[in-house]
Amino acid sequence: MDLDLDFTEDEIRRYSRHILLQDVGGTGQARLKAARVLVVGAGGLGSPLALYLAAAGIGTIGIVDDDRVELSNLQRQIAHTTDRIGALKAESAAVAAKAINPDVHIEPFNARLDADNVLGLLGRYDIVCDGTDNFTTRFLLADACVLARRTLVSAAVLRFEGQLSVFKPHLHEGGPCYRCLYPEPPPPGSVPTCSEAGVLGAVTGVMGTLQATEVLKEILEVGESLSGKLLIWDALATRFRTVRLRADPDCALCGRAATIRDLSLHHSPGQACAV
Ligand SMILES: [Zn+2]
Repeated sequence: MDLDLDFTEDEIRRYSRHILLQDVGGTGQARLKAARVLVVGAGGLGSPLALYLAAAGIGTIGIVDDDRVELSNLQRQIAHTTDRIGALKAESAAVAAKAINPDVHIEPFNARLDADNVLGLLGRYDIVCDGTDNFTTRFLLADACVLARRTLVSAAVLRFEGQLSVFKPHLHEGGPCYRCLYPEPPPPGSVPTCSEAGVLGAVTGVMGTLQATEVLKEILEVGESLSGKLLIWDALATRFRTVRLRADPDCALCGRAATIRDLSLHHSPGQACAV
């Protein structure tokens, strides 16, 4: 990668606490500037995620969401504001991210992710973040990321709990994909969504911020990747656990005799929404 190490004085001041870090420095900051990250879902996870990525100086951030801001979103979706109720969420999140850092390029997509548009979109980004709250989009995105060889940083929240992992079998030999962990979507109605079961707003904030941290680590190539591990946070018990994930040799998506080779199984009407 050709890195542009020419920073303006304002950039040096804005990113000075990054540049001071031995593991970031000017080179790391230049990597962040050159990076292209796609945030899917501008909701409870996508809000802190998009804001921290913009603040960190990620050069290009795509934000996908086809929803509009509602009053019931504002308990957790901190990229949106009361005076933007009714606005498109992707546009509203772009306004919030730009207000923090006008130097970054934000690409809002007011669209529902589907089998026809997902691969074209993924092709334009290096790293993809799943901040959605439905299994239709989660599985579509997980399949598309393996087919397009993109790193997927995936977070999920419900009630007082959060989960986080990184899936990059194309880079991590023996690393699992999302389907190694969850081979099939659960039967409709068997797992409640946040709109059915509720979620503590701050829990989405913590998980979206952890997700942003893992994105930055992947770009900077520092620390231990969360690939092959699942972080589980129980907010009520104030307990973090990390469990090991292994690639499933019989996985339909990344296994030896993989049967999922395109997105044809996703060509049915689905529902996309964000946490
Ligand atoms: Zn797999």
